[in-house]
Amino acid sequence: MKKFFQYFIIILLFAFWGIILQNKTAVRGTVQEITGLGLPCAKPFEYSIGAVDSRFEIDSAKFLAVAQEAEKIWEDQSGKDLFAYNPSAEFKINLIFDERQAQSNEADKLEEDLQKLEASHNKITGQYESLSGNYAQKMARYNSDVATYEKKLKNYDEDVEDWNKSDRTDEDDYEKLQKEKKELNDLRKKLEQERTEINQLAGKTNKLVSQENNVVSEYNANVSTYKNKYGGGREFEKGVYDGKEINLYQFKEDADLRMTLIHEMGHSLGIGHLENTQSIMYYLLSEQDLNSPKLSEEDLNALKTVCKFK
Ligand SMILES: [Zn+2]
Repeated sequence: MKKFFQYFIIILLFAFWGIILQNKTAVRGTVQEITGLGLPCAKPFEYSIGAVDSRFEIDSAKFLAVAQEAEKIWEDQSGKDLFAYNPSAEFKINLIFDERQAQSNEADKLEEDLQKLEASHNKITGQYESLSGNYAQKMARYNSDVATYEKKLKNYDEDVEDWNKSDRTDEDDYEKLQKEKKELNDLRKKLEQERTEINQLAGKTNKLVSQENNVVSEYNANVSTYKNKYGGGREFEKGVYDGKEINLYQFKEDADLRMTLIHEMGHSLGIGHLENTQSIMYYLLSEQDLNSPKLSEEDLNALKTVCKFK
């Protein structure tokens, strides 16, 4: 695009050469109009990359790459060569770290912590369900075994009573009593073991419950911190164009940084804010498509007006 434009100017200069010889004043006027001195967009707006604070997780090369993506959005959709990166250009795009990014990092960290706590809470809930299911099952078996034991114990006591009342010589009855006694002992041991297992399970379950309480109270504390600090929503300038440079202050991801750059670069062309919430030049990050940024009709019209494109 850039090349084509230059050729275009040269061709016109040659075309007017003959006129220059005849009428210098007229030519000077013509040249001035064609090269568009003082007009925005007549030649690509040159920018360089200035300060890139190392506290951002992005270096100058990457920052330039994002700026060039932003440039492309304006150029591809307008079909004009609007910007040009020139390392020695006076106009700089800077990435400046201040409390905006610091707060945004802190908010990210809190969100991350909340997610971790939530995951840990889900894990505990799963463990609790499995433990308490197991507990209920063992408890039901224990209760049924206790009932069996009590029934058998009652029978045994009755048989003992009968035995004591008898002349105590019947060997079969004696054998039966011995057998019943052994069964009762075995059952008592079994019950004892079940009781131990149940108590271990109860211990684990209760430990889990107290863990859950800790996680929940930490989660709630973090939520209230988050709400206090960021709950009201923060409105701040992520970027500023001041006529001499563009300063960027905050972003979460490349797409977000690119969107702010597209917006500020729009200002550098002389475009002001527009009403459409989908417009790049809307004053807030709103309904614009972060992942595949598009100029709205209003953006394009504003560009045409400012650049005096037909
Ligand atoms: Zn703006």
